[in-house]
Amino acid sequence: MADMNAAIIVLGPGALPLARRLRDALPGSAIHGARQRLGNAADLVYQDFGAHLRDLHARRVPIVALCAAGILIRALAASLGDGHKQDDPPVLAVAEDGSAVVPLLGGLGGAHTLARRLGALLGVAPAITASGELRFGTCLLNPPQGYVLADLEQGKHFVSDLLAGAGTRIEGEAPWLAPARLPHDAHAEHIIRITPQAGTGAANELRIHPRSVALALRCQAHEDSATLEQRIARLLAQHDLAPASVAVLVVPRSEAHHAGLQATAKARGMALRHVDSDAQTLPATWLHLALAQPHRLLADTPLAAVAIADAPIDVARSGASHGRLTVLGLGPGHSDFLLPAARHALETATDIVGYTPYVAMAGPLRPGQRAHPSDNREELARARHAFELAAQGRHVAVVSSGDPGIFAMAAAVLEILQDDAPPAWHEVDLRILPGVSAAMATAALAGAPLGHDFCLLSLSDHLKPWTVIQQRLRLAAEADLVLGFYNPISRQRPWQLDDALDIVRRYRRGDTPVVLGRDVGRPGEQLTTTTLQQLRSDMVDMRTVVIVGSSTTRRVTGAGERTWVYTPRWYPSPPQRP
Ligand code: SAH
Repeated sequence: MADMNAAIIVLGPGALPLARRLRDALPGSAIHGARQRLGNAADLVYQDFGAHLRDLHARRVPIVALCAAGILIRALAASLGDGHKQDDPPVLAVAEDGSAVVPLLGGLGGAHTLARRLGALLGVAPAITASGELRFGTCLLNPPQGYVLADLEQGKHFVSDLLAGAGTRIEGEAPWLAPARLPHDAHAEHIIRITPQAGTGAANELRIHPRSVALALRCQAHEDSATLEQRIARLLAQHDLAPASVAVLVVPRSEAHHAGLQATAKARGMALRHVDSDAQTLPATWLHLALAQPHRLLADTPLAAVAIADAPIDVARSGASHGRLTVLGLGPGHSDFLLPAARHALETATDIVGYTPYVAMAGPLRPGQRAHPSDNREELARARHAFELAAQGRHVAVVSSGDPGIFAMAAAVLEILQDDAPPAWHEVDLRILPGVSAAMATAALAGAPLGHDFCLLSLSDHLKPWTVIQQRLRLAAEADLVLGFYNPISRQRPWQLDDALDIVRRYRRGDTPVVLGRDVGRPGEQLTTTTLQQLRSDMVDMRTVVIVGSSTTRRVTGAGERTWVYTPRWYPSPPQRP
């Protein structure tokens, strides 16, 4: 069975032994728990139980919660209002002592299959209440991977008819239905039809499409997704094929980065695969090269080819996947500050590349995902390695803390591309996804010190001369910009911060507010508010971001005597010269 990637939710340490058993049985799954209760025993920690569950549900992550069904129902209730039930992931409650397995939601998403699997593991009968499941021992409306139901509404009527006593026969290959307890009748009017043909069939038909069709298209450089879309629609209509039957779109390697092709494949849910073939050869040749299973051609022209296999297409073995390199920001550390786009890129990556602690922060890894941790200061070697992997067709995530474009890997990756990178590296599908930078996370904790013009400087003289830093400090301080210092101090750079502060003090008053954010968004987070006069370099380390206010930065007291620091959005006009 494919990886489950389920979230096993644990409320207290008592449920951990069972949670670990379930995790072992469900490859790809992880134990999620509240930090206060589970500490480091969980693979993934959350702060707010309800918010976390709703987030998982929205992302369609299967949920196996070791708690009372009622707790789960209440937590998810708010998410269920507008949704469609076919969009629900499996949601199961499992008794902490393993004595009950209760599928609550996601019957169409595989909840019953999962409940049976866990029931078998724990030696209990799953509490299945869906009539079709009980009668037939399978959910007819949830065919396995490689097959797609043509029409859910029609399917529901079909199942109701069978429950009401109708018999059925199967036309086509449906190996997964062999063990099901269906009311077989060779002359029945109700038909389960497994076919790639378009249409939903008559009212008494349950049509299931095998994803057994492969397309190959020759496209023009300027062709956009709209025209490609039309060509595909015409091609499928000519052969009366259902769009859902198409598993894969095959192109020569040189075309794999074509933006229109990529958009079309994504929109249609087709895998885009490439073959090492001259773009001048016929599309039918590309299909023959790509498909590792028996198939026959339905169309063979200089512009397009269509092939049909006698079983769902094994996409992973059909041609090669186009390499992808995503440089992403993890945010300061806490998973709440990881943007959904970056999270998605992490989940779908085959390889995670980065500085060792950040690779750890990006975990837990899914089975099959490879980690490539490396030392600090090896940015260029790391970027090269990432391109090498991506050029082999892997989907690589290069991780940085905070934002990848701020003193981090995105620039290193582009530097590599600029220096003579091999042509294959230029073909890699490169994306850069933003993250919450340390200064932003610190500013939000402190109030709004970056509310007006500011300037961010790295105080590291590892890649630039200290004299340049000194000059920038002078000019930025003179311009009365709020200053944010990254890499403020380290064992190799012990005196630089004091030198920097001496420069700034020449232009700023001693009572200028200063904010120090240390390990922001991580365990042990510390926020210190002080003044320029009181700031000493031993209050700062390399895990700190320093924000020095401008002449207008001020404090305001909030609830519970809390001090906020902010810089107003306006600025006083300079005195007019006479
Ligand atoms: N790309 C990162 C910055 C990397 S440079 C970002 O956008 O945040 C490394 C420096 O960032 C550290 O020396 C420290 O000054 C700052 N930093 C990174 N993470 C931090 C955190 N969680 N809390 C405080 N400062 C942090």
